[in-house]
Amino acid sequence: MFKRWVIMRINLKKAKEEHDQYLDLDLSIDLESIEGVHSLKIKEPIRATGKIFFTREGMFLSLTGEARIENSCSRCLKKFEETLQLKLNYEIVSLEEAKEMDEEEDILVVDHDVIDLEEIIIEELIMKAPMKPLCKEDCKGICGSCGQNLEEGSCNCTPREEAKETIDPRLAKLKGLLEED
Ligand SMILES: [Zn+2]
Ligand SMILES: [Zn+2]
Repeated sequence: MFKRWVIMRINLKKAKEEHDQYLDLDLSIDLESIEGVHSLKIKEPIRATGKIFFTREGMFLSLTGEARIENSCSRCLKKFEETLQLKLNYEIVSLEEAKEMDEEEDILVVDHDVIDLEEIIIEELIMKAPMKPLCKEDCKGICGSCGQNLEEGSCNCTPREEAKETIDPRLAKLKGLLEED
């Protein structure tokens, strides 16, 4: 039987002693949501597999996985699901080592030899999550004048260039209400 890691915090010193060249990782994280720039609803447990390598040059973490999330469209506000792909490769270094390194490098700094894989995966997902999620690439969004969701049907407004793309959909709705008076 395949054994899944329940403990996400791994003591690297111990792991290095127990495993010669690498440690296999098969992770499953059961979470309801992630709070980042905006909150992401997690639809299924996040899966990730990979390895921690112990080499003469140092320690390296390599993980791939995916997360099924629910987002809301930044143009029309509709909720939709999408899969975020995870792929990360880091050199693992201690606080002391990190001080002597170039900031540009892909390093993962660990304190007291303990690596927290859940934290790393969540951070990565927050970075991967789109700043402006779209239900589909060419989502027409909400009419800047009347607030009609143009994915569900057109409205009678004459399109005005400046209102088309840039207006925040929440403001558009408000603006639509104000103009009804
Ligand atoms: Zn949309
Ligand atoms: Zn309209």
